[in-house]
Amino acid sequence: MLIIDGKKVSLDLKNELKASVEKYQAITGKVPGLTVIIVGQDPASQVYVRNKAKTCKEIGMISTVIEMPAETTEEHLLNTILELNNDPAVHGILVQQPLPKQIDEFLVTLAIDPSKDVDGFHPENLGRLVMGHLDKCFVSCTPYGILELLGRYNIETKGKHCVVVGRSNIVGKPMANLMLQKLDATNCTVTICHSATKNIPEYTRQADILIAAIGKAGFITADMVKPGAVVIDVGINRIEDASTKSGYRLVGDVDYDGVSAVASAMTPVPGGVGPMTIAMLLKNTLQSFQRINAL
Ligand code: NDP
Repeated sequence: MLIIDGKKVSLDLKNELKASVEKYQAITGKVPGLTVIIVGQDPASQVYVRNKAKTCKEIGMISTVIEMPAETTEEHLLNTILELNNDPAVHGILVQQPLPKQIDEFLVTLAIDPSKDVDGFHPENLGRLVMGHLDKCFVSCTPYGILELLGRYNIETKGKHCVVVGRSNIVGKPMANLMLQKLDATNCTVTICHSATKNIPEYTRQADILIAAIGKAGFITADMVKPGAVVIDVGINRIEDASTKSGYRLVGDVDYDGVSAVASAMTPVPGGVGPMTIAMLLKNTLQSFQRINAL
């Protein structure tokens, strides 16, 4: 079985992005800037934001993190976003979710200028994706990373049956829509399953490409997978493990040991889809910089 190594691909991609940043800096004297806003002190969010900032700096981009207290008002956050929309040194704006209860996440998504929405969550970007204008939108980072993995591993997609389990706005829906597009790297027949789907194994067993984005450890078992299928595991789940220092370990939505005996190719967790997500965020930020500077 082929292990689709997201860690390696993300490193290759980051090196390519670093070279592009240097090239554009030599031409324009400017570098791309990503601003991340974090509201409150959610520990997992703090780790994500730190990692984003670190990777950003590694490839030569300007990273700014705006930390706001948990009691921040919606009005203050929206005003800050407006200022960033108008700041020419900012090419990408990201507001880390989840947000405290007093803030409407959808209003925040709408407030970000679509041309700086490097998360690809704004309805304008999602709408353009659905219409197939991938060169004129930002694709949300996790589905975009999966597309990059499929492309770099030359996984054949045209005419294949892709089954996506999960229909969130940030993973399942954009993923399924991407796989549906008439592009070289997609062009699939697509089925989407969710929590109300009856008899999920009946669908997953038909998948040539199976993408699991559910949030339930080991949900996809070997008996749910067609022999030879390509399996992409988006899930990141913490399970207790007394043998580790932290007392837990990360596993995906796919039962790795069982499914790896059936699948032809598969992403591991960790080291599969996860590392690609940050790399694609930086790719989107570079893309924004290129568009804004007509490069
Ligand atoms: P959400 O909780 O927003 O969505 C989960 C989806 O799975 C929903 O559509 C839900 O259905 C569906 N679902 C839940 N339980 C079942 C079930 N028993 N049977 C069928 N479908 C089910 O999660 P996300 O999409 O944000 O994330 C999914 C997973 O991917 C999580 O583990 C998350 O941590 C991980 N993730 C990983 C990323 C990475 O970079 N690797 C990035 C983003 C997420 P319904 O709509 O009916 O409720």
